[in-house]
Amino acid sequence: MQALAILKPDSVAQAIALHGAGEGARYLAGGTDLVPNLRRNIQKAQKLIDISGLAELREIRAESQSLRIGAGVTLEELCESEAVRRQAPLLAQAAAQVAGPTHRAAGTVGGNLMQDTRCYFYNQSDWWRTANEYCMKCEGDTCRVAPKSDRCYACYSGDLAPALLVLGAEVDIAGPTGNRREPLAALFADDGMRHLKLAPGDLLVSVDVPPQAGWSAGYEKIRVRGAIDFPLAGIAVALRREGDRIAELRVACTGVNSYPGLVPGLDALAGQAPGDAFFAALDKAVRKEIQPMESTLTAAGYRRRVAGGLAKRLVERLYEAAR
Ligand SMILES: Cc1cc2nc3c(=O)[nH]c(=O)nc-3n(C[C@H](O)[C@H](O)[C@H](O)COP(=O)(O)OP(=O)(O)OC[C@H]3O[C@@H](n4cnc5c(N)ncnc54)[C@H](O)[C@@H]3O)c2cc1C
Ligand code: SF4
Repeated sequence: MQALAILKPDSVAQAIALHGAGEGARYLAGGTDLVPNLRRNIQKAQKLIDISGLAELREIRAESQSLRIGAGVTLEELCESEAVRRQAPLLAQAAAQVAGPTHRAAGTVGGNLMQDTRCYFYNQSDWWRTANEYCMKCEGDTCRVAPKSDRCYACYSGDLAPALLVLGAEVDIAGPTGNRREPLAALFADDGMRHLKLAPGDLLVSVDVPPQAGWSAGYEKIRVRGAIDFPLAGIAVALRREGDRIAELRVACTGVNSYPGLVPGLDALAGQAPGDAFFAALDKAVRKEIQPMESTLTAAGYRRRVAGGLAKRLVERLYEAAR
């Protein structure tokens, strides 16, 4: 592993100043994504800015019906928070499905959203990648998944992002060039090598979840090891039921593209009863949004089929529960 300086700032402002806008620095939160990647030499750093002790980032604040969640809140704290369980239980549900208990005790909301994209040819030891001549995302010049492609198809695999997307969350970012608030969706790009639209030194401060009255929401994923794994496909659904119709519907996916995304085109389903035609259209919309490549040991077509199935199952369950 490369030699590293670890710096411990006292405030968000100091963290940003220590980071600077140049190359070589990285924020360290729980370290459960970053440290394995540094050890494998697939991510590089000369200095780590340890933001895990910053009280400013650790607060969960309920404001009337909305919720403000600090980026440094751990996934375990998210699962156990009364305010989260009351106002956005979907977040506790999604956080509980991240990795294993020890990862959730250290891993944070910010680190979960900002985690690197993943691929079978990339998340390997240095000696494995040396023997396989590396790949375009790190030190090589060819994509092993799509050798003629000039882009990387590594998958975004965070569990919180789809949940936050269907809840309509916004994020507060602070950085060397100023502060901004934007919809969570604006953070992500469809590019496995540059999937975060962040300037160097930008720090995620908090996530804001608007009021959810009248909405029912859920998250499900499939994974290889049920107790401790990234999603091969993950689906979040939020819906509002009125009588025997679904008045509004949002679906978001993870683990299947280089970014977590809301499935477009679902407005056409608003106001319909969830019958055969509804589910056929939902399945078509979900599959159309998904572009899984052979970047895991699982067949890409399987992930697409499963994502459609998860969406249907969740809609049926939430619709019944909203009776
Ligand atoms: C065996 C294993 C299984 C896993 N399974 C899952 C899983 O099922 N689902 C899942 O989603 N994840 C999984 N993970 C990944 C990881 O544990 C979680 O995503 C965790 O929430 C990451 O948070 P962290 O605080 O540890 O991030 P870190 O490792 O500290 O940081 C990750 C990245 O985010 C950046 N970062 C952190 N905080 C901020 C901030 N506030 N602003 C800007 N940048 C920031 C860091 O610089 C780094 O680039 C798994 C990891 C392992 C090792
Ligand atoms: S999709 Fe291609 S370039 Fe991206 S990590 Fe995988 S093999 Fe490398």
